[in-house]
Amino acid sequence: MNWFRKMMVGRYGMDQLSNAMLILSILLLAISSFTRLSVINALAMIILIPCYARIFSRNINKRREENMKFLQWWYPKNMKLTQFLNRVKAYKTYRYYKCPQCGQRLRAPKGKGRIRVTCLKCHKEFMKKS
Ligand SMILES: [Zn+2]
Repeated sequence: MNWFRKMMVGRYGMDQLSNAMLILSILLLAISSFTRLSVINALAMIILIPCYARIFSRNINKRREENMKFLQWWYPKNMKLTQFLNRVKAYKTYRYYKCPQCGQRLRAPKGKGRIRVTCLKCHKEFMKKS
């Protein structure tokens, strides 16, 4: 393990972009093994090669810049995905509404009959079935 540590001195290593590239190429390899399409296999390799090049790169500032661009692109998507998964998880206990005035997403406990929902953002009140 010491030789590996010595080799990685001054090199960039893993980050979120490398992780994403690795996961994407593994998914593509899995898909290509099921479908037996060599195009998908080649695409996985096209992603995997620059992924390893990034990990072993000595140009740390450039790699960090690339990772920042990736995170700026990925963060809003990740937020939406997380919110969606939270809604799916709480599907049995909460009901979700959208404010008709400002579009703010609101939630209320399920099974309380007809309720008056007050928007936390614009204080608009509206009746909904929970
Ligand atoms: Zn509102």
